[in-house]
Amino acid sequence: MRAAVLFGPGDIRVVQRPVPRPGPGEVLVRVAMCGTCGTDLKIFDGHFPLTPPFGEFTPGHEWTGTVAAVGETVDEFAVGDRVCIEAHSGCGRCDNCITGRYTACLNYGNAAKAHRATGMTANGGFAEYAVHHVRALYPLPANVSFADAVLVTTAGTGLYGLDVAGAYIAGQDVAVLGPGPVGLMTVQACKQLAARQVILVGTRPSRLELGAELGADHVVNAGEVDPVRAVLDLTDGQGVDMAIEASGGPATPQQCVEITKRGGKILVVAFYPTDVTFDLSAMVRKDITLYTSRGEGGNNVKRAVAMAGAGKLRGEQLVTHRFALDDIAEAFRVLREREGDPMKVVIAP
Ligand SMILES: [Zn+2]
Ligand SMILES: [Zn+2]
Repeated sequence: MRAAVLFGPGDIRVVQRPVPRPGPGEVLVRVAMCGTCGTDLKIFDGHFPLTPPFGEFTPGHEWTGTVAAVGETVDEFAVGDRVCIEAHSGCGRCDNCITGRYTACLNYGNAAKAHRATGMTANGGFAEYAVHHVRALYPLPANVSFADAVLVTTAGTGLYGLDVAGAYIAGQDVAVLGPGPVGLMTVQACKQLAARQVILVGTRPSRLELGAELGADHVVNAGEVDPVRAVLDLTDGQGVDMAIEASGGPATPQQCVEITKRGGKILVVAFYPTDVTFDLSAMVRKDITLYTSRGEGGNNVKRAVAMAGAGKLRGEQLVTHRFALDDIAEAFRVLREREGDPMKVVIAP
């Protein structure tokens, strides 16, 4: 098969590799599409822990496709089934896995104990075929396209964060900071969970417009107005019940402190390029609870698939660029240089 292999920092090449064989409990999938994200840029630059060695490693952790073969004991899927994934397959035996927190598996990166984060600690989906554990695959309803399915994995991140934060948000005001793929899938999830107002804060007009199309009640361009003032104005000066930080910008954690009402919650689902500072004392004074979550644990991709199947989550609108596998280096140049304002760049073998 053809597979994109990382040979060194910034050196990705499409080469011939043997089709992987699914082991017990594993499924071989013919990849239809694989999304790219900021984490891939770190992986390409060689700044990601526990990846397989250069010359062997195929990244790609947002893939979807059709089952091509199943390993021993797998009767959940049959050849020809359309599936999407969650990136993390926990060891299944540590305390965190047992309680559903497998994105925080205590055996993270330990392949001998069956942990696999596809495209991160194990080979992923920038290839014609990929193998994943059956517990990290979900069947796709017929009405969910592969482009939607790429974003279903992303939606799982927002839903898992809401799950971790105990976010019974019906009737509440929510602000989502950062109209990237995670932010926009989370906006949709919050609307479907009957939040009263969802306020989307960002700086790129095209992304804010898409956020409004996807259901945000208000969009705030933080490049044009003071986002703290704007959110307070929309919430009678009290602030939101929950601020969801999906931007990874260094200034946004402090904005979350200022726009969250007394007794409210802040949920952080982003990563930051550097250390960030915010007023922790103000958080304590306001009795704000801070939650963080990583990736798409807690079986939340299953919820995302169900919501997408019911027409309540839309992903395909986020796909702005499509590239063939052979053009993967060009795809990553476009992603890195933000050429044409990419939202979700996908690779289709
Ligand atoms: Zn990602
Ligand atoms: Zn584990």
